[in-house]
Amino acid sequence: MISDLSGKRAVITGAAAGLGRATAELFIAQGAKVVVSDRDGDGAAEAAAALGPNAVAATCDVTVAAQIAETIDVARSSFGGLDVMVNNAGIEIGKPLTETTEEEFDALMKINVTGVFLGIKAAVPALAEAGGGSIVNMASVAGIGGAPLLGAYCASKGAVVRLTEVAAIELKAANIRVNAVCPAFIDTAMVDRLVSPFEAAVGMPFGEVLKVKQGRIGTAAEVAEMVAFLASDDSSFTTGSQYVLDGGLVAG
Ligand code: NAD
Repeated sequence: MISDLSGKRAVITGAAAGLGRATAELFIAQGAKVVVSDRDGDGAAEAAAALGPNAVAATCDVTVAAQIAETIDVARSSFGGLDVMVNNAGIEIGKPLTETTEEEFDALMKINVTGVFLGIKAAVPALAEAGGGSIVNMASVAGIGGAPLLGAYCASKGAVVRLTEVAAIELKAANIRVNAVCPAFIDTAMVDRLVSPFEAAVGMPFGEVLKVKQGRIGTAAEVAEMVAFLASDDSSFTTGSQYVLDGGLVAG
């Protein structure tokens, strides 16, 4: 089986919906046990219940270090430890930089960047206890290049890419691999929220933008496949890298 996750114990942040939930679904299908964590505690509970006995829910806002620590403890108490940390939770702002308030910019950076930083820090002791493991950070093609309306978001995802590289270097001795996933537009509620402002800004229907830039919208299941590969031992020589899923957008 490719991306076999049998016996792997994982925490996924922001897993009540979208890419996090699709990743939790695939992880469980591939044999993992998953802590489905989200700041939306009801959503996490509903997702975990739907995913069955190998999923447990945790309420966790990634901006609160104590809540991430408690979530890692849920992996310890429910599954006996941690092998995989997926720092997936993130938010978007779809506004020109000049219309973005300082408060909005700071709030986004707190979730998208500080949240990943805190997730790495909290996971490392548990991963080290297990003899090593894999951290997968959800970045974006917005972390590789700029896009209109996504100034704060691009800044945050660029930071996630750099954090990933440094963590990979620093954690190599502990046998912990750290990689980033960089999707383009994927079919989730986040993109639904961006469609109208984006169409207004570029003066083109969103479908046309997709057709020109990436051919079609990506699916959450396609992103989950990449996360599962990076979580699995199939990617054992892979660390500090960015994995782009974009239908050729970055290539031009
Ligand atoms: P989404 O809005 O559909 O789901 C995000 C989930 O994260 C929600 O369940 C939400 O409750 C949770 N969340 C938000 N803030 C949180 C916080 N502070 N703590 C814990 N949970 C929190 O978004 P999505 O499209 O699934 O995005 C998931 C990740 O993928 C994000 O990091 C996003 O930036 C990234 N991403 C998405 C796309 C895309 O096109 N959808 C592309 C590239 C990268």
